[in-house]
Amino acid sequence: MKFIVANWKMNGNMSDKNEMVKNLKNIETDNKIILCLPFTLLNGENLGITIGAQDLSQHENGAFTGDISAQMLKEFDVEYVIVGHSERRTYHNETNEIVRSKAEMAIKNGIIPIICIGENLSEYESGQTIESVAKMLRESVPESGNYVIAYEPYWAIGTNKTPTTDEISKAMDTIRQIVGNDTPLLYGGSVKPSNAQQILSIKNVDGVLVGNASLKIDTFLPIINAAN
Ligand code: PEP
Repeated sequence: MKFIVANWKMNGNMSDKNEMVKNLKNIETDNKIILCLPFTLLNGENLGITIGAQDLSQHENGAFTGDISAQMLKEFDVEYVIVGHSERRTYHNETNEIVRSKAEMAIKNGIIPIICIGENLSEYESGQTIESVAKMLRESVPESGNYVIAYEPYWAIGTNKTPTTDEISKAMDTIRQIVGNDTPLLYGGSVKPSNAQQILSIKNVDGVLVGNASLKIDTFLPIINAAN
């Protein structure tokens, strides 16, 4: 079984979501499709689709204006939550320590965190991918509990650039050695219909995290089909 995770980021309205859900419901697949929606599109109705969120607070509750807690997500039937996406790390200064606290908070409340890690462009260009990924991973993952890891090189997100098969494979092998065999590993960064099958066939890639191409069924469906 492969994971096909859609990250809608700050895109979409209720009718886009309803349309996507309607399309996804008709698909026959043994794979796990997870729709990670903006908070405003979570409404707790039983959609028959696995729903994820894109962030949560590391705090239980209290004076954290604008934040959303794990318990609030739970009330809306959220089963997965992305934590430590590069856009959160970059625009909201989230450190590995914060990411780990968020992942721990999700697990404590019965939500599976999808923990994102990945090297930035200068680390990639100076040949430090493996060191960077290993450090981020060690510092961002909780000591126990179920979680998913998404390897997403910063420079590959939304850029139409992807690492080579060999580069993805090397990073995934490193991650696998650190987290063991039971943790699903996803690749993310400019996954599209034309490269999905190749990426999904790389050893240790248990699925993909898809941004832009997940917004429309025309580009998302071929990626889902590539996993079949
Ligand atoms: C993402 O949002 O995690 C992502 C990988 O985006 P894109 O597929 O657009 O590169």
